[in-house]
Amino acid sequence: MKFNTKAIHAGQQPEPTSGAVMPPIFQTSTYAQAGPNNHQGYDYARAGNPTRTALEKLIAGLEGADECACFSSGVAAMDALLKMLRPGDHVIATNDLYGGTYRLFTQVFQPFGIDFSFVDMTNLSLIRQSLNTSTKMIWIETPTNPLLRIVDIHALSDIARDHGALSIVDNTFASPYLQRPLELGADAVLHSATKYLAGHSDVIHGAVASSNSTIIEQLRFQVKSTGAVPGPMDCYLTLRGIKTLAVRVERSVSNTKVITQWLEDHPKVGHVNYPGLVSHPQHQLACDQMDDFGAMLSFTLSDDTQEAATAFMARTRYFTLAESLGGVESLISHPASMTHGSIPKEVREEAGLKDSLIRISVGIEDVEDLLADLDDAFS
Ligand SMILES: *Cc1c(COP(=O)(O)O)cnc(C)c1O
Repeated sequence: MKFNTKAIHAGQQPEPTSGAVMPPIFQTSTYAQAGPNNHQGYDYARAGNPTRTALEKLIAGLEGADECACFSSGVAAMDALLKMLRPGDHVIATNDLYGGTYRLFTQVFQPFGIDFSFVDMTNLSLIRQSLNTSTKMIWIETPTNPLLRIVDIHALSDIARDHGALSIVDNTFASPYLQRPLELGADAVLHSATKYLAGHSDVIHGAVASSNSTIIEQLRFQVKSTGAVPGPMDCYLTLRGIKTLAVRVERSVSNTKVITQWLEDHPKVGHVNYPGLVSHPQHQLACDQMDDFGAMLSFTLSDDTQEAATAFMARTRYFTLAESLGGVESLISHPASMTHGSIPKEVREEAGLKDSLIRISVGIEDVEDLLADLDDAFS
């Protein structure tokens, strides 16, 4: 089965009692048992729910994984994965990381004795130097947020495996339509399904997919034991969103290519970050590991101040100023004060995150209207 067919059919069967083509929203907390521990695979809805199962099979299919576990948010999915670690363990992570991930690492898990190194992952020798005998995970985000750098998933998965560590890829920015990390050797792939998978900015949802039996077992244990599970309605919304993933992403990507070319030629723009541009330092790597370059971009202004960025964003009409990404509508944000506000200024600047940096999540609107809107905001 190819990707577009999987998005509609992977793990999906008509519901057996009624023939419903879409999985019903099983709004129940518990399930009748024929006798003690004699049930049809479901005993209590914290551990499992048929609407959730249909979604998990679909995401597993898209990522080419044996299994998937869904969570109430992307950070809950990360939290469950990190609970595989024990005090003294060490994690190497991308230095250009989603702000909420950075906060989870440094403010929740570090106080429990987990060590984190934040490394420029475009430099493989820096990764090798950061490994130590306690390193248990290499945590990869690619394209990175908000600088859209590309990290070599294949090479890093090899480094992790040789070291006996797990490679985890946050695939939120690319979506499985554009990048499938498990095919490149990663041990687990995680999503803030809030973004491209659900795709309509109407639900918070997370997922981890893997074919590694230790990881799958641990995730099932966490689902049952720590219980950050999504409700059936949220599972239904995410599942519904995924059916159109390919067409949404395709349109957003084609809009993004037009917008990035236009921005690159604009006199008031400093630098445009987009892996699809030949000027991007890892353009070739992006061609190798992605099917296309995504619909996230960021750029600085030639007037590199927070004030200039704020003034620009206040003038756009179709680009709504908001956190988040991956929905059908275009969003604009200022990472230094919004998504990455929890990262100290020195750390931000060291990673190259400038004060005027503006991030855009390109939606599926008509590109002529989006260009006209940006043009007005510059004038
Ligand atoms: C949004 C996001 C998360 C967190 O997911 P939530 O669903 O908001 O909890 C993690 N990683 C990336 C790259 C994100 O964009």
